[in-house]
Amino acid sequence: MNSNNFDYQQQAKQFADESPRSIIKLALDSFENIAISFSGAEDVVLIDLAVKIRSDINVFCLDTGRLHAETYRFIETVREHYQIDIDILSPPTEILQEFVKNKGLFSFYQDGHTECCGIRKVLPLKKKLAELDAWITGQRKDQSPDTRNAVPVIQKDNAFSTAEKTMIKFNPLANWSSTMVWEYITVNNVPFNPLHERGYISIGCEPCTRPVLPNQHERQGRWWWEEATQKECGLHADNMKEK
Ligand code: SF4
Repeated sequence: MNSNNFDYQQQAKQFADESPRSIIKLALDSFENIAISFSGAEDVVLIDLAVKIRSDINVFCLDTGRLHAETYRFIETVREHYQIDIDILSPPTEILQEFVKNKGLFSFYQDGHTECCGIRKVLPLKKKLAELDAWITGQRKDQSPDTRNAVPVIQKDNAFSTAEKTMIKFNPLANWSSTMVWEYITVNNVPFNPLHERGYISIGCEPCTRPVLPNQHERQGRWWWEEATQKECGLHADNMKEK
């Protein structure tokens, strides 16, 4: 289907309370040119659900160059476990080299994560999405009370749509809690990143992720030196609230 003709508002209403499996099936049935974004964390559930619907799924992963060693190994575990290709996306070399030369490797602790995430995540994602009509993400409402509490199951991706093409974003896990995700992982013997066994709930780049304490929200383990409403890396810029 051409994404410009996909009635995302009507489908979002119709599928608002449907299961993640139903939403993924709708996505895969509606679009040939669609891919799953895999971060190397518990969004592996998307892959497990999708391969049971269609074995030739298109999966990509943003390799920022700053992931934990455990996450790189986990990505390989997932590739082998599901026998799928994973498109590993790298940042543009020249832009990254210039950035690191000028600002070093940890500038985000001084002036915020936006520039580094922009180069290491948003640019490669933008290039990838230009090839696609739709993508599937692991966003959930419960991941961030400050930025994700209104995430719908299907939406127009305003950050990556153009005048010529509407980009459709499916968020099949939007209504699932962390507990429901982990129940699924346990019941279905889904492989998981070993960092989860060490107190990490949300997993991103190594310098910008830390384990959380009991009763701390998972988002407190990400960019902890920044204000809560700005804790999005640009992949889901639609979620950001005005400062
Ligand atoms: S999460 Fe941190 S290291 Fe990773 S791209 Fe963003 S600012 Fe850079």
